[in-house]
Amino acid sequence: MKRVGIVGAGASGLVCAIEAARKGHKVSLFEKNSKVGRKILATGNGKCNISNLNISLSRYHGESVATIKEVLKRFDTVTCKSFFAKLGLEMREGEAGKLYPMSHQASSVVDLLLHEARSLGVDIFLESEVKSIAHQQGAFCLHVKEQSYLFDACVIGTGSLAMPNLGSSGSGYGFAQSFGHRLVEPYPSLVQCVCDEASIERASGVKMEARVELYIENQKVQSVQGDLLFTAYGLSGSAILEISRNVSYACLKQERVHVILDLMPTLSKEALQSLLQKRLSLAKGKSLSLWLEGIIPKKLALMILEKEKLLHVKDASQLSMKELKKIVFALKALSLHVKETKGFESAEVCAGGVDMSEIEPKNLMSRKIKELYFCGEVLDVDGDCGGFNLHFAWASGFCVGQSL
Ligand SMILES: Cc1cc2nc3c(=O)[nH]c(=O)nc-3n(C[C@H](O)[C@H](O)[C@H](O)COP(=O)(O)OP(=O)(O)OC[C@H]3O[C@@H](n4cnc5c(N)ncnc54)[C@H](O)[C@@H]3O)c2cc1C
Repeated sequence: MKRVGIVGAGASGLVCAIEAARKGHKVSLFEKNSKVGRKILATGNGKCNISNLNISLSRYHGESVATIKEVLKRFDTVTCKSFFAKLGLEMREGEAGKLYPMSHQASSVVDLLLHEARSLGVDIFLESEVKSIAHQQGAFCLHVKEQSYLFDACVIGTGSLAMPNLGSSGSGYGFAQSFGHRLVEPYPSLVQCVCDEASIERASGVKMEARVELYIENQKVQSVQGDLLFTAYGLSGSAILEISRNVSYACLKQERVHVILDLMPTLSKEALQSLLQKRLSLAKGKSLSLWLEGIIPKKLALMILEKEKLLHVKDASQLSMKELKKIVFALKALSLHVKETKGFESAEVCAGGVDMSEIEPKNLMSRKIKELYFCGEVLDVDGDCGGFNLHFAWASGFCVGQSL
């Protein structure tokens, strides 16, 4: 039996604590918040997209592919389902293979994890931020609120820098560096984008299906179709979150980023033009925005008209062919410069983190310090939207807990 100290009672720390306690270790779990699993509660809009039926290496990003592969091999979707079934949690399937708790409540996931950890005798210290970790004569000394606790093994499951108001504020990076570990520079991912186009505010709140093409230094690098949401500052929605990792990395390198939006992906340019031409017969007595309201939301119409400098046209029936083509072009290929992302404060996850080439793939133990382990998002790995990030957090916590 080892004395195990785990820093962080998030997704990875809780699963690690449960598995380590099941192995018969004496486990202490330190959490700086007054509750465990605060970030889990915020996941999937409170419904917690726990995992995905289509877990595969291609949905993950990070430099040490072999380590990610090893973790996923040891904890696949079947293992994930059976881990949660053992806690008493049933899952249901959503779109695109997404898995959710059958209760539709993220709180069910946290409640059952907490119950299991407590039943197994895990000591849970709340409002207990670990300030520093010292390693002396083979033992780890955790400093918490003027007190020190000694452990044979230490697990860092502190999360990343994403959404620090939920608890994970990057302290794990500092602990890793204090033990000589290298960091792959962290940057926000699954995050909204800020545009410097003034007219965009007019469309704030409009949600639609769109095709988004991402250009970095005028080179097309990604094209996705999905939900697009206009906001006062720029763009959000699943299609934007999907391109945000590339946007974020380009911004880090101070490269020029722009997107081209096809706001009517089901119609070709020609079909849209002939539809608008046909609709000119209905234009008499209508303002341009009212005439456009027949096919697009009013707020979007006003944004397009402002951007294309057509707000002065008071009567839609007076629209020239050149002006009509401008509207077609704006709806099929609206170009917006992306200034930056909304940053770590709004990001769902972090790309980058503790370099996994310095971590053993089979048990996630440090190659520098024996019995020091890492799990979850503190590591240099991030997944696509769709349950892939939580899956890696559970999986890596499970691997460490089993290996201790
Ligand atoms: C709004 C939002 C929605 C999301 N939705 C989904 C989703 O639906 N599906 C999905 O797969 N992923 C989702 N994610 C991502 C997912 O939540 C994370 O990838 C996952 O929680 C990471 O788990 P973790 O254990 O590494 O870190 P966390 O869950 O962040 O846990 C780390 C814990 O460590 C604690 N801590 C940090 N430093 C210290 C310290 N020094 N001492 C003590 N405690 C400390 C923190 O308070 C925190 O509780 C979402 C993220 C956000 C922000």
